[in-house]
Amino acid sequence: MDDRSSLDALISECERVAFDLQFARAKDWKHDPAASGRWIAGYLPIYIPREIIHAMGGLPVGIMGTGDRMQIIKGDAYYQSYICHLPRGVVELALAGAFDEFDVFLFPSICDVIRNLSGMFQIFRPSAYVKYLDLPQNFSPGVGGTFYRHDLENTMDGIRRHLGDTLKHVPRGEWVARLNYSIHLYNENRRRIERIVELRQEFPWRLSAVDWYHVLRAGLAMPVEEHNNILYELEGLLQEERGRKLDNIRVVVSGAFCEQPPVGLIKTIEMAGCYIVDDDFMLGSRWIEGDIPDDTDDPLGAIVTAYLDHSTFSASLYEAAPASGTKVERLAELVRKRKADGVIFASASFCDPALLDRPELQLGIERAEIRTIGVQYSEHTGQFKSIKEEVGAFSDSIKLWDSESGTHTWLPTVLEG
Ligand code: SF4
Repeated sequence: MDDRSSLDALISECERVAFDLQFARAKDWKHDPAASGRWIAGYLPIYIPREIIHAMGGLPVGIMGTGDRMQIIKGDAYYQSYICHLPRGVVELALAGAFDEFDVFLFPSICDVIRNLSGMFQIFRPSAYVKYLDLPQNFSPGVGGTFYRHDLENTMDGIRRHLGDTLKHVPRGEWVARLNYSIHLYNENRRRIERIVELRQEFPWRLSAVDWYHVLRAGLAMPVEEHNNILYELEGLLQEERGRKLDNIRVVVSGAFCEQPPVGLIKTIEMAGCYIVDDDFMLGSRWIEGDIPDDTDDPLGAIVTAYLDHSTFSASLYEAAPASGTKVERLAELVRKRKADGVIFASASFCDPALLDRPELQLGIERAEIRTIGVQYSEHTGQFKSIKEEVGAFSDSIKLWDSESGTHTWLPTVLEG
């Protein structure tokens, strides 16, 4: 198999896993006859410390909604019309039995919709352990740190009680070693993801945003060890030149951290003349910026400190890790780091956190002399004609503007056709 066909095979396998709404890869892992005591923890967007689940012998599986791959009938009946689409798809999946073999469900605090969904799961799945994980908004160690640690310990106790004999008793020394090892694996995962983001920043034509999306999303539905191997293989394949450099502008997409954009929207943005050089899709995979120490006597403390000091920014938080700057400053810094020409604010319709944050972010980013445009979507949207026209006009205006001022970095290049 040459590189091109290897890359195609890898991407199409990732797409299959990413959008397998029956979570077969996770269920196969759980029922591997060579292993015992395995369990699955489903979690909602955005962030949970997956290292803890891994160290406890479970598989964390991201529940990111149905995209446009399932017709929602019953799920719609559970919600009023003026909330986002994500929980409708999740309810539809639950009622269709997709999560029947999941043992634990974790609902990180994002918004009221997710909070209410956790209550509904207590009714849908009385045999599972369901926990609303209250990620702190206070980032001082004595307040938010103490609270968060307590919440994590409480969650671990709840899982242990629920799974009972499934979890073997592990002496403290062994537990510390296990959790450090899990941290090590997820550090590796974040590092490899970041290396590919950097490669795509330099050579965005080598791997489309859609293909990268599939690789990243697949990582939420398979063991981290497997995903690390895939990322390693992908990084190797991307060393070779491939694709064609187009006269595209470079954009950062912001606001799509929870309900995921339909793949068709990502494709539309690319076809409208944009290279997406960074984004907040599947933000939980990159929530912690940098490594978490993986050789301490208190790995749980290291996870808590990483959350306090190295969280990324998101509308689900007022201001994360305040020492790193405001959201506006951090987004502007990201745009500079990725050498982007503009920001596309893309959020799910009725997403309160994203849409409440947007005016302030958009104003701040424009004050930093970065061009912006805003769009809204639902995960099952299928029509993108007007978005293509708007984003296409945005892209053209930047190309024309910057070609006059001489700052558009991608001229002259190959035009498609
Ligand atoms: S898309 Fe927005 S409103 Fe909907 S569950 Fe996610 S954060 Fe909440």
